[in-house]
Amino acid sequence: MNNQLIERQEARLAALYDVSSQLGKSLDLGEVLNQVMDSIIQLTGAERGFLMLYDAEQGRLQTRAARNFDQETIEADASNISKTVVERAIQTGEGILSSNAQEDDRFSGQESVVGYQLRSIMCAPLQVRGQTLGAVYVDNRLFSGVFEKDDLGLLVTFANQAAIAIENARLFTQTDQALARRVEELSLFQRIDQQLNRSLELNQVLSLSLNWAIALTNAAGGSIGLFEDVLSEDTGLLNRPIGRILRLMVFRGEEAHSESRYVELDHPIVHQVMQDNRSVLTRNVTEEESVDGTPASVQLAVPIVQDGEISGLITLETQHNIEINREDIAFVERLADRAAVAIKNAKLYEAIQSANKAKSDFISLVAHELRVPMTSIKGYTDLMNAGLAGPLSDQQKQFLEVIRRNLTRMSSLISDLSDINHIESGRMKFDLKPFDLREVVADVADSLRERISNREQMLHLEIEDALPPVYADSTRIAQVVSNLMSNANKYTPEGGEIVVRAWPNGRSAHVSIQDNGVGISEEDQQKLFTQFFRAEDKAVREQPGWGLGLSIVRRMVEAQDGEISFESKIGEGSTFTFTIPLAKMEGADKVNDSSEQS
Ligand code: ADP
Repeated sequence: MNNQLIERQEARLAALYDVSSQLGKSLDLGEVLNQVMDSIIQLTGAERGFLMLYDAEQGRLQTRAARNFDQETIEADASNISKTVVERAIQTGEGILSSNAQEDDRFSGQESVVGYQLRSIMCAPLQVRGQTLGAVYVDNRLFSGVFEKDDLGLLVTFANQAAIAIENARLFTQTDQALARRVEELSLFQRIDQQLNRSLELNQVLSLSLNWAIALTNAAGGSIGLFEDVLSEDTGLLNRPIGRILRLMVFRGEEAHSESRYVELDHPIVHQVMQDNRSVLTRNVTEEESVDGTPASVQLAVPIVQDGEISGLITLETQHNIEINREDIAFVERLADRAAVAIKNAKLYEAIQSANKAKSDFISLVAHELRVPMTSIKGYTDLMNAGLAGPLSDQQKQFLEVIRRNLTRMSSLISDLSDINHIESGRMKFDLKPFDLREVVADVADSLRERISNREQMLHLEIEDALPPVYADSTRIAQVVSNLMSNANKYTPEGGEIVVRAWPNGRSAHVSIQDNGVGISEEDQQKLFTQFFRAEDKAVREQPGWGLGLSIVRRMVEAQDGEISFESKIGEGSTFTFTIPLAKMEGADKVNDSSEQS
């Protein structure tokens, strides 16, 4: 080999090393393709060049980068020769070199060779792991012998490296796109979950699920329903399930109906879903064949699976030969999994609601049934006490007193339970009106005065003169004040002191009931306001009570837009404070009205 040749070879290798080391630095497919194209021109010194990749979706080769060629030229018939060369390189999997195409038997017959005076041509397939991705092509129109065998070797070597870089970028883009799709889907499901979890109403959960399924598959309509037990009508065995049936409850689409529709389990599509435990896609369904009675080009039936069992079904329909693809099916299946959880929660909630209603109905019934005999017991006790049934011995009087005390205890329990029942079931009515708090506090104080003086306690009322009317239900507020004052009375030893204060503060009136009684330990303070809680303290337990008063008080105050708080120190006493809104002054209303209008 002469020196010149060696130098040329060295220069080629250096150039190859140079461009190859640049490859793989980017994972952006467009960037990689441009880089490859530039490197090829640089390496071969070609006049023009292009790179084609096989597009699997379109099933043909596509130009992805070009130098000194425009797209039209490549697409046009004029470059038939280039296409022939590329196709041959791809077919044989080998590089092609023609140093003078005009005289090359393989190509000289081509019109374009003559027309465009193509002389020097090189082409190398882009191959990776036995697969051909496409090819790179370079040419020189004017000069023959521009490319030599060594140039082709260089191009083929580089093409092999370029193919790896292209494949990597392609895979990366695919993974990147798949990842982006997954992230998008996850954030969508997060939105769906949020909506589903916000609702505990079964029908709404079903509606939401169906709406999402339709929106994301572009279906024309659909339905959703749950499997139910069919109960026996045989009264001997009440509620005995004798089979199951699908009850479609929510429908969408042109022929959507609002009534539930019952579908037997031997319906062919339903049967297949149950049997195979997977989604079923049926084409060209007639009204009779359709699960929900809507004829469709395609009907998809997706099972809703709960704890391994099919508990419901989503159907989706398309018209006018619109397909539902595999991705759509997978999506609806994932949606169905979400819906299953929300449906379960909604059903549990329904069960709790109905258990609550049963409890509430039971309490109402018991309260009513107890009140009637108690009224009669109280009536007869009063008659006997008044001596209408003959004179009573001291012991008899004492016994009657015990009966009366216990009746009072029972009747306060019944009225507390009824109150809680009414509040919990939302049936407690509040007759909100402006009223003078001073009068209510004074009335309550009067009604408790005897009990307070029985324990030789001092009562102070400190109501601010400037206290404007409040806006609440006066009877309920009297009940709140009475409860708190009665606690102060019960849980303060004889000779103690009770102070009731009321003062305006901002838009509210504050009312506090302070005592210097037994106080509440820090541990007990955490449990205060919970139903049936009473401190273990002997001083507390020897007083009558059920531990329901404070929980009622809090609910009543809060239902009237107020708040309640307390401060207490064991052995020193407690202060309970609650707020209620002040009634809006007429003048203030006017100011507000005029400011809204301006
Ligand atoms: P009851 O008075 O029927 O027990 P409440 O719900 O009114 O029911 O009160 C619950 C418990 O809170 C009482 O049993 C007592 O332990 C404690 N408590 C309430 N008010 C006071 C108070 N003013 N001083 C000390 N303890 C109190």
